Amino acid sequence: MVEGILLIISGPSGVGKGTVCRKLLQLKKTLKLSVSTTTRSPRPGEEDGIEYHFTTASDFKKMIDNDYFLEWAVVHDHYYGTRRDLVKRILASGQDLILEIDIQGAEQVRKQVPEAISIFLAPPSMEALEERIIGRGTEEPDRIAGRMATARQEMQAYELYDYIVINDLVEDAANLIDSIIDAEKCKVSRGARPPGGGGDSK
Ligand code: 5GP
Repeated sequence: MVEGILLIISGPSGVGKGTVCRKLLQLKKTLKLSVSTTTRSPRPGEEDGIEYHFTTASDFKKMIDNDYFLEWAVVHDHYYGTRRDLVKRILASGQDLILEIDIQGAEQVRKQVPEAISIFLAPPSMEALEERIIGRGTEEPDRIAGRMATARQEMQAYELYDYIVINDLVEDAANLIDSIIDAEKCKVSRGARPPGGGGDSK
């Protein structure tokens, strides 16, 4: 069986990774979204095992020591990580999997899984990103400048990615990623073959 594709979707904080991934999952029913482990508290409506596996910092650290994570990072003072065993199981079953993770995590996955496809989600402009961060309403006004400074730094990571997708309209961004996945599936290097396996070799 051909292994599933591992898709990394990353980009600066506030760019709308979560929204684009949700749209993409509606478009492509065969895609799965990896459920990360985190030490942050659940937000209203979030359920353990659905949005995240919620855990304590001490348990998270034990999991790091036991090499449970394919990647992990501290994002906004909380630990986030992707469990190696869950990723392996899903890919081995032939399903394609999205990792919606921050820039630091994306770098770790790229090093360990060179065949993963990495997509850098970028805002249409830095002004638009600032408006989104303010509009989200989760930041104290005095922390906005700090968030923007981090975002500017994160934007520089784009060169390390396979693809850049601009998130202006969520629907367009999700459609573009959908097409990227379709194109990757046609690659001979990924196991695509003509009907009958390519004829005889005479
Ligand atoms: P939130 O707490 O708003 O759901 O996510 C905060 C940030 O953590 C987002 O940028 C998200 O992409 C990132 N994130 C979520 N899960 C993981 C993970 O498993 N690993 C890493 N490195 N980042 C993650």
